[in-house]
Formats: sequence, structure tokens, C-alpha cells
Amino acid sequence: MVEATPMHFFESVPADSGLTDRFGRQLTYLRISVTDRCNMRCDYCRPAPDAYKAEPHDQILRYEEIERIVRVAADLGVNKLRITGGEPLVRRDLAVLVKKLASVPGITDLSMTTNATLLGKYAADMAKAGLQRINISLDSLNALRFRKLTGGELAPVLAGIKAARAAGIGPIKLNTVLMRGINAGGEHSEVAELIDFAGENDATIRFIELMPMKQGMDWDHHYISIDDVLQRDDVRARVEVDAVLKTGNTAARYLPLKSGKGEVGFIMPMSERFCEGCNRLRLTSDGGLRSCLPADHQLNLRDLIRGGGSDDDIRAVFLRSAMIKPEIGLYDFEADSEKRSMIHIGG
Ligand code: SAM
Repeated sequence: MVEATPMHFFESVPADSGLTDRFGRQLTYLRISVTDRCNMRCDYCRPAPDAYKAEPHDQILRYEEIERIVRVAADLGVNKLRITGGEPLVRRDLAVLVKKLASVPGITDLSMTTNATLLGKYAADMAKAGLQRINISLDSLNALRFRKLTGGELAPVLAGIKAARAAGIGPIKLNTVLMRGINAGGEHSEVAELIDFAGENDATIRFIELMPMKQGMDWDHHYISIDDVLQRDDVRARVEVDAVLKTGNTAARYLPLKSGKGEVGFIMPMSERFCEGCNRLRLTSDGGLRSCLPADHQLNLRDLIRGGGSDDDIRAVFLRSAMIKPEIGLYDFEADSEKRSMIHIGG
């Protein structure tokens, strides 16, 4: 549900009130989707190509609009930004936006999530513009499987990882969505191989449990828990599975590698909810502000801005978004749930 945003929620909103929700969580992290277009079509992330229709360009936030929203958010205490999509690097002149966001006072952490296919071309520009860190999706090291799952090619992704390192963007994190029968479970498992690959490439790998979205892949069929994965002999040979899970200030939990060189991360949105420490807000490419990934609700900042809304009005929308952030994000399994695909929301 998209809520139209009235021009004036509050008579006046103090600039220093910060973004604390009803449960005492401080919201300091904004994920910004810059496009709902992608040069891949990962089965877990988007509807079938014929069912997928990208938003018209004029419905997508312009860079000046994103920058303005970020300035207000930073005033309210947001200090961490992640640029995502769709595929962020398919948006023209993305370095222009990165540079703008890197110079917003108060922003201390600027990162991007990408499929890396275009990093060979743009990594140096991104580094120069001020991008600090990068997360790269890598679901398989098998070229055929990779193509079947994503519709794209593995080779440019591997080249993109190298280019990011060469450009000095780091640390590099690799994200793998676990899917039974595809890259996890039985003889399909690539978990051990991916851990080795990350080690050889100076990257930290994080395995993510598959989330059920309205227009994603068949969750019942492909979901596998991290717990299941940690039972495997080839994983136990590499990971200190009995160590205490390290909890950082993100959704990931970490276990040390037996090699002594680094750690491996696990993101468990399904088996271990991390709502308690959630500090996130999301801005969709068409200007929706969402305070909870699986909740359907979003507030419309684009129309507010284009209707002449002031910075105070934008601030009020942020405060309202914090106010309605649910204590726990629910993935309901009702067929009529409106939960959209990740390509629409921005993962
Ligand atoms: N195109 C970029 C990429 O591939 O990294 C950024 C956007 S993509 C939506 C961001 C992340 O969302 C990916 O790392 C992917 O792992 C995650 N994602 C998408 N759909 C998911 C699902 N159903 N369950 C778990 N993770 C998902």
C-alpha cells in the first residue's frame, strides 16, 4: 500500500529530534534504490520477464531529489547509505550521484550492492567519486548454473570483483542467496567452494536465507536454513561451526574460518529474525519510503517533493515512517499478500 503524504503532518518538526522509533531503535541507515531496472533476471528477485514492467523514467527519482532527501535524512541522524537497485550501475552517470552523496555532511559510510557485471567499466569512477565499500552478489561459480539462474554471464562478474579490488574499494563482501536444489543442499551445494573462492579473493562471503517475496521463486521448494548448511561435512571442515556467532551492528552473524584467515557471514531473515537491532529505512527508486522490508506500507516522497513540499515536510515523512515501523517484519505466506519483488523495493 502506498500512502499519499499530506503536505503538513506536523506544524513544525524540530531539526534535532533524530529518528527513533516506538521501540527505541535509532534509524541511522538508509538503503537507496536508484533504479528498478536490471541487466540480470535472478529468479529469486524479480517476476518472469514477460510479467515485469519497469517504471517509466519520469517516475524515478532524479539525482537532485535523492540528494535532497539524503540531506534531510542526514540532518535526522542517518549516517550510513547503501546504493542498490535493480542494478545500480545500469543507471546513467551513477558516479555523479555517488559524488553528491559522499559530500553530504554527516554521511560517514557509503556503499553499494551490485551484481558486478559493470564494475570492470565503472569501479575506478566509483572509487574516485567516493564509494567506500561494495557488496557483490555471487550465487554460483558454475558458469552454466549462473546463466540459468541470473540470465547473465559469470566472467564479467569475476572481472568486476578484480576491478573493485584494483580500484581500492574495500572491504569487498560477496552475497550468496542459498537455494536448495540450485546452489545448496545435497550434491548441489557450492557453499564450500564459495568460501574458498572468497578467501582466494580477499573477500568476506555472507550466505543469505531465501526470503519469500510475492514475485520471487517458489520459496517452499527452494528455502534452506543456515542451520542445515552448517551440518555439512565440507562446511564443517572450513568453518568453526561451534564458535559463538559474532554479532555486529548489521543483520549478519559471523563465524571464524578454520584457516584462521577471516570469517564467514550468515544472514538469517527467516530462521533468526534480526528485527530487534534493525536500524534501516529504504527509499525505492520511485520515491517510496519504507521502514520495514517485508511490510507492504510505504510513504510517497516523490509526489510530496514534486508537489512543492518543503524540507520540513520531507522531515515529517521520515518521522512518520519511523513512527509506523513495525516491531517485527512479517513474511506472511498468504497468497494475497502484496509483498513485491526485491527488484521493486531494492534489496
Ligand atoms: N542488482 C544488485 C545485486 O545483484 O546485488 C542489487 C540489487 S539485489 C535486489 C540486492 C540483494 O537482494 C542481492 O544481494 C540478493 O542477494 C538480495 N535478494 C533479492 N531477492 C532476494 C530473496 N528473495 N531472498 C533473499 N535475498 C534476496
